[in-house]
Amino acid sequence: MAQIRIENVRKDFGSFNAVKSSTFTIEDGEFFMLLGPSGCGKTTTLRMMAGLELPTSGEIYIDGEEVGQKPASQRDIAFVFQMFALYPHMNVGKNISYPLVSQGMPKAQVKKKVDEIAEILGITDILKKPVGGLSGGDRQRVALGRAIVRNPKAFFMDEPLGALDAEFREHMSEELRALHDRMGATTVYVTHDQLEAMQMGDKIVVMNHGVVEQFGVPQEIYDWPATKFVAQFIGSPPMNFLDFNGMVGNGSTEVRLNDIAMAIPQCLDGANGALSFGVRPEHVQLDDAAGYRGVVKATEYLGTTQIITLETPNGVIKARAPSSDAVRVGATTGLRFDPRTVTLFDAKSGKALRSQANQGVLAHG
Ligand code: ATP
Repeated sequence: MAQIRIENVRKDFGSFNAVKSSTFTIEDGEFFMLLGPSGCGKTTTLRMMAGLELPTSGEIYIDGEEVGQKPASQRDIAFVFQMFALYPHMNVGKNISYPLVSQGMPKAQVKKKVDEIAEILGITDILKKPVGGLSGGDRQRVALGRAIVRNPKAFFMDEPLGALDAEFREHMSEELRALHDRMGATTVYVTHDQLEAMQMGDKIVVMNHGVVEQFGVPQEIYDWPATKFVAQFIGSPPMNFLDFNGMVGNGSTEVRLNDIAMAIPQCLDGANGALSFGVRPEHVQLDDAAGYRGVVKATEYLGTTQIITLETPNGVIKARAPSSDAVRVGATTGLRFDPRTVTLFDAKSGKALRSQANQGVLAHG
């Protein structure tokens, strides 16, 4: 069990700055996701926490102890890689017991521990089997067993399910999460899959180009993205952006989209310049009585819901509606946005404009 904190951590590879100054805390027992596109620096961040890479500057704390310059062997953590390298000449039980045997633990104690872990992982019946003929799932369970058996302070996993097909991946992600809930060990997990991060994580850090864009619980990140990047990276389809110029005035909270005034209950007095109006597809309502108009360009059937693509005076947007709604391609329709669900962004910096106080109101409103 461990709390992990990274403070102003930076990593350079030669003249290339892979991770910019990053700061966040992983609380004891959390299932914590490092999420971002390929090359954003998530693996490098994980490797620095695990001690496989040393930070160029900044501090890393595990349970309050600064470990930034200590090697992995002195951090009492376990690393689970995507490719589960098992010892091919050993059976399942021996693969799991290996870390304990090499520590010199007495035989009876090793057996007890391995039996316990096998029970947790549901692999008691294959303990004597060679690892060669095992299914992908069982190989994964054995690799996890070998990581768990040492009772490390924390687990570090780098896209552990990346090589699996979609169906099996979903099954294993549920199993991993259930295992975590049973054991309660701090787990740091790298993924580029936003859905996996949302489904599995207690908290998520979203990275882009070596920068921590946002850090929080999944719902907060989905509902209140701190940047346009996060709003686009999370959610499928992503958040819609309608660009417009100028804003409000007189301390009012109203935006004008193509001359249609819309109340925004956000403390945005003084915001001006190029702004982006962000709204998630499920918060775009088709309502013929609404003044803001769009033309239906396409519909995509998804079972219980459908995605409707519309052309508006401010650009193309997507709406999610029940499949039972009759929508005709080519028709003009009114669009309504629930102002409580809208996020405004500075179009240049990409940063969300909103106040913390207002977030609280909206989160409960
Ligand atoms: P991926 O999902 O593709 O692994 P990532 O977000 O995990 O991406 P990192 O592996 O952390 O990204 O890499 C971040 C950047 O640092 C990339 O541009 C990568 O090419 C670079 N990088 C990583 N390791 C090294 C290294 N040892 N030497 C030089 N550059 C490196």
